[in-house]
Amino acid sequence: MYCGERFESELLTVDHVQPRMRGGDRSGGNLVTACGACNARKGSLRVSEFLRLDDVARANFFRLAAPHVWPRILRSVKEELVQGAPKARR
Ligand SMILES: [Zn+2]
Repeated sequence: MYCGERFESELLTVDHVQPRMRGGDRSGGNLVTACGACNARKGSLRVSEFLRLDDVARANFFRLAAPHVWPRILRSVKEELVQGAPKARR
């Protein structure tokens, strides 16, 4: 979802777009796959924080994720990209 490359499914990790602790669920509309390298680069960053830092990941995420991530979750990722994550507000 981030580098845009294709991998065998056993090489992919599953990422919650909206973190579980912030009410994200396990439905398919809240899950994206990432390869091991992207998952390691993303670390514990929120999706929006990672996308802000990585232009390629941002372009791929909105191209590849948009068709299947819940619209409400996509909207909150876009809002966080513009405004910063809630905890980062000063
Ligand atoms: Zn990747």
